[in-house]
Amino acid sequence: MDLDNYDVVIVGGGPIGCITGEHIKHHKVLILEEHSAIGVPLQCGGLVSKEGVKELGYPKGVVNKVRGAYIFSKSRCIKVEDRDIRAYVFERKIMDKDIAKRASKNVDFLFKAYGRLAVPPWQQGGGLSEGFLNFNNLLRRERRYSLSVSFMGDNYHLNPKVIVGADGVKSSIGRSAGIDMRREILSGAQLEMVNVDVDSDFVYVFLDRTYSRDFFAWVIPMGKDRVRVGLCDTSNSYEKLIRLIEEHPLVSQMLKGAVPVEFSVGALPMGYGGETVKNNLLLVGDAAGQVKPLSGGGLYYGAKCAKICGRVIEEYLNGDYPLDYLKSYQTLWRREIGREIDFGLKFRAILKRMDNNMLDRLLEFIEKRGLIDYIVREGDMDNPSRVVESIFKKFFSLK
Ligand SMILES: Cc1cc2nc3c(=O)[nH]c(=O)nc-3n(C[C@H](O)[C@H](O)[C@H](O)COP(=O)(O)OP(=O)(O)OC[C@H]3O[C@@H](n4cnc5c(N)ncnc54)[C@H](O)[C@@H]3O)c2cc1C
Repeated sequence: MDLDNYDVVIVGGGPIGCITGEHIKHHKVLILEEHSAIGVPLQCGGLVSKEGVKELGYPKGVVNKVRGAYIFSKSRCIKVEDRDIRAYVFERKIMDKDIAKRASKNVDFLFKAYGRLAVPPWQQGGGLSEGFLNFNNLLRRERRYSLSVSFMGDNYHLNPKVIVGADGVKSSIGRSAGIDMRREILSGAQLEMVNVDVDSDFVYVFLDRTYSRDFFAWVIPMGKDRVRVGLCDTSNSYEKLIRLIEEHPLVSQMLKGAVPVEFSVGALPMGYGGETVKNNLLLVGDAAGQVKPLSGGGLYYGAKCAKICGRVIEEYLNGDYPLDYLKSYQTLWRREIGREIDFGLKFRAILKRMDNNMLDRLLEFIEKRGLIDYIVREGDMDNPSRVVESIFKKFFSLK
């Protein structure tokens, strides 16, 4: 099998790896996926804003549409309701496969293929080795990573011009390149349950420290009789999820008699660590920490950055640029969403310090001050910092 004739190899066949590949249109691209299929295992609530759906290229797989949210603290609840659809709920397996189908027009896939960075020549000691013996590289003294791929019991060595680490939150590719991956990681657990009766126009968010100390829990309707109930926190998310389902006054009622049909666990990166471009390696999606710190949504930011990543790689390969050209990816994606992530992290730090009493007071304040209309009018799921900042300023100046 000749795997060594690809210009670009993307490690990770998640949605963000696929969108990156889709946007490198004029070069040979290979996507390596360690699993045997696209879209499994599920690690997502599948909730995407209207704008996010557009950014993802209107993929198939919508199972529900929502107009707002019930937000619960321990003792209070506010209802944020719009007349129009605000977000879509996806069956991720269908969405991911549809995105992969689009990408497959100019990308090859290799399943059951685990990619890792080969030890680079400059760390091996001794003379120059295979990966370094390219004449242009030598002239430019460019350092390039290469890949080692395990596939069906064999190992292959690949020397693409560019490598993309779209390998999710743990990103062994980023780690083995020595990229600083220090950032907060939340663990998540989720059950899909059927046999429920729910108002499917709304998602249910539980900002209650009894169940999740550092993040929140959710019920996302997938229709009138099917929900995803999940929770993220710094630890023990599965035990906390079971507690929510069994003990929370509303959730336990809502899910009485419900039957689980799918269980998933996953992790969320909160913020980004160091660089996202190193030599001929670029990180994208969860691997690069392109996730909203206040909601954990990664599809919208990931898709935005995947397009930038694909475009920069395409330009680099089309022109006679030095390797440093790839660094423009980092500048461009941070310009696009860096400020929103930074604000999100700041507001998340404030939220983390709020106990159940203060969260109750915050919801009461929002309701009594008539701020719900303001949230409906100005709120933006993808860029929430302006509205959150304004509410926090009002709330804390009165305390
Ligand atoms: C509990 C939970 C709920 C969430 N809910 C939402 C939500 O409602 N809305 C939203 O927008 N986001 C949500 N997210 C975040 C969203 O799921 C991610 O941001 C998104 O999946 C990131 O896509 P990705 O392609 O970067 O990474 P992933 O989807 O993780 O894909 C990475 C792929 O790389 C493969 N891989 C990894 N290492 C290797 C290797 N070495 N070789 C080959 N293949 C490899 C993996 O098998 C995987 O297929 C949620 C996350 C969690 C954990």
